[in-house]
Amino acid sequence: MARGWLRYPQPMERPTAIIGAALGGDSFEDLISQAEATGAQAVQIFLGDPQSWSAPAGYPSEELRTAMERAGLTLYIHAPYVINVATSNNKVRIPSRKLLGYTMKVAAAAGAAGVVVHGGHVVEGDEPALGYANWAKALTEVSALNLSTPLLIENTAGGERAMARHLNSIAELWKVIAEFDAGFCLDTCHAHAGGLNMETLVADIMSITGRIDLVHANGSRDEAGSGRDRHANFGQGLLPGEVVARILHESGAPAIIETPGSNEDQAKDIAFLKNVLAGIA
Ligand SMILES: [Zn+2]
Repeated sequence: MARGWLRYPQPMERPTAIIGAALGGDSFEDLISQAEATGAQAVQIFLGDPQSWSAPAGYPSEELRTAMERAGLTLYIHAPYVINVATSNNKVRIPSRKLLGYTMKVAAAAGAAGVVVHGGHVVEGDEPALGYANWAKALTEVSALNLSTPLLIENTAGGERAMARHLNSIAELWKVIAEFDAGFCLDTCHAHAGGLNMETLVADIMSITGRIDLVHANGSRDEAGSGRDRHANFGQGLLPGEVVARILHESGAPAIIETPGSNEDQAKDIAFLKNVLAGIA
């Protein structure tokens, strides 16, 4: 190349998106060998039982950080499913904030790229506005922790009182929490099942949040608008994998697959996405 000639990066030379998988395992070594088996460049884990309120005290976050760094893996932590910071029910909201704070602290110590948490919902009889206000309170606590790891609020599939299912609710939530710099995790199965327009999805979300930090790239076993949260592998179910790949491409964000089956099934899903993405680029 001639000297002084600035060569602009061509679209084909753009770094390909990081694609990882939601994985478990008996140990960090097991986790890493599963990441190798699936071809995942990133892993998403729970710190403990996702249906349990008990925070795993004394979590070995430094050990996790070292293991991830050695393996060259990007780490995401998924907060437990029981967390619902939006609800007016004190018995759920207060422990939810506590457990979320703990999860955030461990994630930051482990060098995680983000903590994913579901948008939650209000109880019957409560105005959605109460849920948005409760979110603002939760984020006030989270931001007081001053952590480098961002909190990524994930869209959910079902329920009419959900904070992050329909676009209008996501928009209202984002207005109320604007000052907190929260991130967004876009789950394709949840968007499809939640009844969102998959053609305009990325533009619609970007116009509200201004960011998509992570895509949960999942197929769906159910029809659009079903409200059901049942993930499917690509090539199966009722959400074409090509649609998921296009959304991933448009978002420009890293992806985590949360598809069912064995490591082999997940390896196929990751290979499928990479293959389609290579064709788009
Ligand atoms: Zn998800």
